[in-house]
Amino acid sequence: MKYSIITLFPKTIQAYIEESIIKKALERNLIAVEIIDLRDYTTLAHNQVDDYQFGGGKGMVLMVEPIVRAIEAVKTKNSWVVLTTPQGQTWQQTLAKQFAKQYEHLIIICGHYEGFDERVLEYVDQEVSIGDYVLTGGEIAALVIVDSITRSIPHVIKEESFAQDSFENNLLDYPVYTKPVEFRGSKVPDVLLSGHHANIQKFKDEQQVINTWKKRPDLIDEKQLNQYQKEILNK
Ligand code: SAM
Repeated sequence: MKYSIITLFPKTIQAYIEESIIKKALERNLIAVEIIDLRDYTTLAHNQVDDYQFGGGKGMVLMVEPIVRAIEAVKTKNSWVVLTTPQGQTWQQTLAKQFAKQYEHLIIICGHYEGFDERVLEYVDQEVSIGDYVLTGGEIAALVIVDSITRSIPHVIKEESFAQDSFENNLLDYPVYTKPVEFRGSKVPDVLLSGHHANIQKFKDEQQVINTWKKRPDLIDEKQLNQYQKEILNK
């Protein structure tokens, strides 16, 4: 997967991708990231990319021309153009997995100020929101999209690491523990220390259902549960 991120703040994107699992995915050529400074695509003096709204209204608006020129500079026949906006389709794990499978090249546009000239939409394939709140800019949204897709690309992380992650099979993850065995009187469940693999698996299956039932009952889809989990749910 190649990501081309169009932004007014290249350093914000750069700082994030130079860390952790994303950095490793880059080093292993599992992904590529191209950061495009929107100001490189204006023809106006002083690198101007925004202007006042027609009709009045508070806040500056990103101009259509630099954005379209930036898109056209990197677009190929295999590109999918995503606009970050609170007005878009809400980003979810299912979309992250679908994008990881379906697309070779994502162009992600980060907005700022009051947003974009509406005519930008004529050059966009999909509008994406990361939730029902308003951020100051699209960089965090772009990084959420990049991070969640990258995690779903084969070999970026071990498959067993995400097989029971939250949202897989419409369940939340089971609780996990590490050392010490006891912290201020609170102990790791005995079964996890037992070395009995079948019982440990049963504990994890059960805890996924209980955890989801307590925190996100709306997610549960009984058809996706194994027999043991169905029994737990119906207890
Ligand atoms: N006036 C716009 C509106 O109310 O729809 C909001 C503009 S916001 C201050 C500036 C930029 O931040 C947006 O153009 C978008 O790129 C990004 N942004 C803000 N909230 C977002 C969200 N929930 N999801 C994705 N991008 C968001």
